[in-house]
Amino acid sequence: MNFTLSPDIIYRRSATANTPATPVDMLVIAAHPDDAELSCGGVVAQMTAEGKRVAIVECTQGEMGSRGTPDIRRVEAAEAARILNLTERWNLHIPDGAIDASPENVAKVVAALRYFRPNILLFPPVFERHHDHENAHRLVRTAYFQSGLSKLQIEVFGQNLATYRPKRLFTYMQTYEFEPDFYVDVSAHFETKLQSYYAHASQVFVPGAAQNQNEPQTLISSPEFLEYLKARARHFGGKIGVEYAEGFTSVEPLGFGSMSDLLAPDFR
Ligand SMILES: [Zn+2]
Repeated sequence: MNFTLSPDIIYRRSATANTPATPVDMLVIAAHPDDAELSCGGVVAQMTAEGKRVAIVECTQGEMGSRGTPDIRRVEAAEAARILNLTERWNLHIPDGAIDASPENVAKVVAALRYFRPNILLFPPVFERHHDHENAHRLVRTAYFQSGLSKLQIEVFGQNLATYRPKRLFTYMQTYEFEPDFYVDVSAHFETKLQSYYAHASQVFVPGAAQNQNEPQTLISSPEFLEYLKARARHFGGKIGVEYAEGFTSVEPLGFGSMSDLLAPDFR
């Protein structure tokens, strides 16, 4: 099968031609425009602070959300991308509330995998409250496999992209909790995560900001949710002896080349 795509670039750090970029170290795929910041903004901020290249790709524009509009959310997503110092941010324009693994949607995600060629891929967990999150998990898993198949030809920005599968597949935590396979110390980057989260001001509670009383309240627009977000990160941090942590599960078994890898100074 052949697909020709020109994905919607929400943000790009430096003006470059639409050609396959230098591979990113980590790609985050999410169902909705604020999901990545909420669930793994800490490791994103950490990686970019280390000089690594990170991109985020959203499946939908969040147009079914109770608050905000696609135009407002697009501006907010670009601002969050700037705060997180992303290399690039895309939106795939899959209908919100109706994510499925159709051939067209799979091709859109394969385009992202082949274009960004990430070592690490972060995406939603298999079991979630919002069906879009579960369906995005299934869509990414399908695209991951098909991205390695040479019979699937994808042209992105006028260029046919080579097959590719990321090395590491990790799922981040959204509403439902699970026992993570590992935790990452994000204490030094938790404030940047919060700033990127506050950039989605139409969706979330921002301390000290005037609240839009005309919009319906949602789970994440309350001050209590912000406290919950911090408390979970603090709880996870406590498990590894640091202030704040984020937890992840590996889809495939993790292996070490040497027992010495566990002797790295910041291995918790
Ligand atoms: Zn979501």
